[in-house]
Amino acid sequence: MKTINEDFTCIECWKEIKKAEKTCRNHCPFCFTSMHVDWDIPWDRSTQCHWKMYPTAYEMKNWDYRILFTCTKCWKTHRNKRATDDEITNLPSLIEKYRIHFN
Ligand SMILES: [Zn+2]
Ligand SMILES: [Zn+2]
Repeated sequence: MKTINEDFTCIECWKEIKKAEKTCRNHCPFCFTSMHVDWDIPWDRSTQCHWKMYPTAYEMKNWDYRILFTCTKCWKTHRNKRATDDEITNLPSLIEKYRIHFN
């Protein structure tokens, strides 16, 4: 499985994001925005999307947060574990803020 784990600039808040230590980071630890790319299937047709995905829900599973992301263009969803340095306390209000994109 090909994974991409490198520094990147957030497409939403433009902060410089350092790559995560142990996990493959695919969302911004500050605003939780990610880009719609299927990392594990590089030539999947959905990699053409490259649109913003925002967090739309979260749940606790095995004492850890699992965040549901929804693409603002094609409405595809995927779940991801939080990274250890995510600003998790900001998540509920960010989900409220991004809700406007899905009306
Ligand atoms: Zn961000
Ligand atoms: Zn998409």
